[in-house]
Order: sequence, then C-alpha cells, then structure tokens
Amino acid sequence: MRVLVLGAVMIDEAMTVATFPNPGATVIAGAPQRDLGGKGANQAIVLKRAAVDVRLVAPVGEDADAEWVAEALTSEGIEVADLVPLGRSTDRSLIFVGPGGENAIASIIGAAEAVDERLARESVDLLGPGDLLVMQGNLTLDATRAALDAARAQGAATLLNPSPIRAEMAALFPLVDCLIVNEGEARLLSGKDTPLEAAIELREDGPGTVVVTLGRLGALALGDDGPVEIAGEPVKAVDSTGAGDTFAAVFAAARYDRGLSLGDSLAAATRAAAITVSRKGTRAAFPTRDELAAILP
Ligand code: ATP
Repeated sequence: MRVLVLGAVMIDEAMTVATFPNPGATVIAGAPQRDLGGKGANQAIVLKRAAVDVRLVAPVGEDADAEWVAEALTSEGIEVADLVPLGRSTDRSLIFVGPGGENAIASIIGAAEAVDERLARESVDLLGPGDLLVMQGNLTLDATRAALDAARAQGAATLLNPSPIRAEMAALFPLVDCLIVNEGEARLLSGKDTPLEAAIELREDGPGTVVVTLGRLGALALGDDGPVEIAGEPVKAVDSTGAGDTFAAVFAAARYDRGLSLGDSLAAATRAAAITVSRKGTRAAFPTRDELAAILP
C-alpha cells in the first residue's frame, strides 16, 4: 500500500533563554538550534522510518529555506519532488526555551494556508483503492475537505489527526475512516467528559475507528468490535514534543500497512510514542529504523 501525507513542514528555530523577553526588552539567547518540524513532515518521517511506502506533499516558500527543508527530508529518504513552492516564505516557528524546559512559540503558517482546494485535490491523484491519505490540522478546512473527499472518491482510506484543533473540523468527520485525537481535543469536539463517551460520540459522526490518546496513561480506540484500551509504557518523560505525531504515524503503519488488529496497532503506537517521550527534541527523539523494526516486524 502507499501512504500519502498531505500537510505542513516547518522550520523550527529554537533558542535557549534564561528569561523570556518582555515587550520592549531584549534578552541574550544561547546558540540557536534549527530543525525540521511541522506535523506533516513529522508523521511522514516516522512512517518512512517504519518502512512504509510514503510520500509527503507539503507547501514551502520560494526561498533558501525551502532548499534546507528539501535537504533535511532527503536525509530521511523522503522524495522531495512533492514540495510545492507557494510564493511566500517557508513556514517557521520561533521557539524560546526557558530554564525549566517550558517554551514560548510564534509560528508563521502562510504557506500551509495558501494550499487551495484545487492543489489539495490534485495532490491525492495518485491514491487508489487500498491506499491511505494521512492529514493533520494545519491546512485550511476547505483544502482538507477537498483532499479527504477526493481520496475517498478514488477508493483510498483516510486518517485525520486534526491538530491544531478547531471546533469546525468536526464537519470533516463524515469523510474520515480513522480519527486520532488527544484527550483535550476529544473533549472539545464531543462535549463529553470521559474518553470512551467522547469516542462513542465522535464515531457517530462517521469515522469507523476513533483513537483517543491519553498521554502517559496510553490510549483508547473504538472500532467495529468495541473499545480497546492500552496502558502507556512506563518511561521517564523527558520531552513530549512529537509524541502525538509518532503515535499517529505508527498507528497508521501498523493498522493500514501491516494490517495488525486494532489492539496490536494501539500497542505498537504506544511503544513508539514512549520512545519519543523519553528523548529530547523532535526528529532526534523519533524512534530509529531499528527501533521501529523491532516494534513493527
Ligand atoms: P504532543 O502534543 O505532546 O505531541 P498529544 O497531546 O498529541 O502529544 P498525548 O496523548 O499527550 O498526545 O501523547 C500521545 C501518546 O504518546 C500517548 O498516547 C502515549 O502513548 C505517549 N505518551 C505521551 N506522554 C507519555 C508519557 N509521559 N509516558 C509514556 N507515554 C507517553
């Protein structure tokens, strides 16, 4: 099977500060760290490391940063022919990391917002029966709807991890086969307090499978055969950045590429996400090819 990820790539520029700058003030920061980020890129990288035939279609700017993004993706073995230059700057986040590990982030998402319905539809052209479209919440509602709709019409399955969340994304659920949300997103979208009640409610809107991630407590999934719950792996949590992306990508690989059961797919995703949580950073923290080969034979 082929998996297409249609979503955002970002350049994450992180700098360490002793105190966060107040309005009108300048603080001196430590050496900047630049890495590839964006939920689309993150999930494509983890899928690739999980030995899935994955393509990433993502908007970039027409600038030198787009070349840097292409090099970073190439180093992960991802085809860069599908980076779409959209005439503005490549999307980026400026991240201040404070002494306790807490952060303050400002993001520019112009390229992601410039993906229109036509481009979204064309992007999924190559998908057919047995393939999977994976999307997140960074593109506009109209572009996301257009891509999900086209993928469905071509016989492909659809997986949506609607983060960053907006309440109106619920309108997309009739076009989604598998929905993956965290606990807060589940509550916001369903108005229900418990993860199981939320999953039942969300499943009524269309997705045959609803997965609710529960942080260190693990995850719950609801499919045709009722709910399955799996405890989180007991690890020392160092940095949870990218845990949700690792979970979604490994769940997609397990369920749709390897054809594992719902419970085994949850278990694989939970083990992989725990690895990400136990290490610092995003891409550097993702499970390696070898680690994923052990989790997903
Ligand atoms: P993030 O925004 O940090 O990427 P998220 O809010 O989308 O994550 P979470 O539910 O917090 O999603 O985490 C996703 C998965 O990562 C969980 O289902 C779990 O498997 C794993 N995980 C998260 N935190 C921990 C932890 N402290 N210990 C073990 N596993 C964890």
